[in-house]
Amino acid sequence: MTDALENLRNEIRAWLAVNRPNDWRTSADTHEKFAKEQRAWFAKLVAGGYAIPHWPKKWPGGGRSLAEQKVIYEELARADAPRLLLSFVSTYHAFATLNECGSEEQQARYLPKILKGETWCQGFSEPNAGSDLAAIKTKAVRKGNIYVVDGQKVWSTMAQYADKCLLLTRTSSEGPKQAGMTYLLMDMKLPGVTVRPIHQIQGDEEFAEIFLDGVEIPVSERVGDEGDGWAVAQATLASERGLTLMELSYRMRGNMYRLAETVRDHGRADDAGVLRDLGRLATQVDAVCALSDHFLQKRMDGTEAIGDASIVKNAYSRCLRAWADLGVRVGGIDAQYRGPITFGDLNTGNWMADFMNSYAWTIAGGSEEVQRNIIAERMLGMAREPKGWSL
Ligand SMILES: Cc1cc2nc3c(=O)[nH]c(=O)nc-3n(C[C@H](O)[C@H](O)[C@H](O)COP(=O)(O)OP(=O)(O)OC[C@H]3O[C@@H](n4cnc5c(N)ncnc54)[C@H](O)[C@@H]3O)c2cc1C
Repeated sequence: MTDALENLRNEIRAWLAVNRPNDWRTSADTHEKFAKEQRAWFAKLVAGGYAIPHWPKKWPGGGRSLAEQKVIYEELARADAPRLLLSFVSTYHAFATLNECGSEEQQARYLPKILKGETWCQGFSEPNAGSDLAAIKTKAVRKGNIYVVDGQKVWSTMAQYADKCLLLTRTSSEGPKQAGMTYLLMDMKLPGVTVRPIHQIQGDEEFAEIFLDGVEIPVSERVGDEGDGWAVAQATLASERGLTLMELSYRMRGNMYRLAETVRDHGRADDAGVLRDLGRLATQVDAVCALSDHFLQKRMDGTEAIGDASIVKNAYSRCLRAWADLGVRVGGIDAQYRGPITFGDLNTGNWMADFMNSYAWTIAGGSEEVQRNIIAERMLGMAREPKGWSL
């Protein structure tokens, strides 16, 4: 650890001691309060210079090296600060998309708004197009200076709070499936947009369906050329499987203390079986952090190989399940306690909610089975899945 990194660690530690919300796990007893608290925490982090370490230097708090970003994530986890669930798609996915593929005009229009708290969601998946994303059917028809959009999206995280949507549409059904896709930025308040939250097993509504009925989106809101949507979508997805996993891995490591406390508080600190599982998990969590570091370094060096991201994603989601599983096993009846608003995260304060949510991560951002196919077929060169396979 260099002096500069040590200084940054001390600086953020001191900042968090004053600014971290203390009662965030119990204070949000309605969805509205949750959204309000998330917005307030984001604004504080922006002002402190810790909300967007991965943005370029010209933005306040941006231009941090990978090592510096790691320190920031470690300290946020150590201080048990809330994750930015509401601004997550805006600051990671929307930023990555606009930064890599958006026009200068689009960047100038939207990036400052994101910093001011504009919330974005991601409208890729559809009822029959998740793993097979190129099967999307939401149709955009160009009429002069607008696209008229009809269709349905599903599983859009936090769409019920969003101002804008990263919308993947189909403008042509000619040629290969990937060729006819077009990427649009959609205002969620436009006539014809209906959002219906989806109630989840743990009792919350983390994501929603979006119904699109004759929605008129200006052509100026298109990212890339018509028909280039698949390539633009890769920029969005790369963000989902990169820095996001680094943050989550470090969060999980920071939360090992919670598991150790649960073991101790439930009188299991001398249970050899539990201690063995805890020890095994601790090494597994360390390995996931090391994998995500290694992966991001490769991405920055330009040496990333197909399958690298899939390895980190599967290692993380497996580990998360083992972590939440142990919490539920040793947490006894307390683990069943249903706190206020939890939302999909590893950090709710409620083991049962975390356990149920841990399964979501084996699906979100591309399901585990499909990641395994990528590793097997495209990385290891194993036999390909027979054509015509279907569920
Ligand atoms: C918490 C969460 C948040 C999400 N947030 C968003 C969001 O903000 N925006 C968005 O657009 N989407 C979002 N999604 C959707 C997510 O991207 C899809 O759910 C995911 O890609 C899987 O697609 P699917 O649900 O259509 O399942 P399907 O593709 O129907 O798969 C069903 C099952 O079949 C398996 N399967 C499918 N194809 C194969 C194959 N070829 N070989 C072996 N097994 C296969 C899958 O692994 C899975 O187990 C989110 C999902 C979750 C769980």
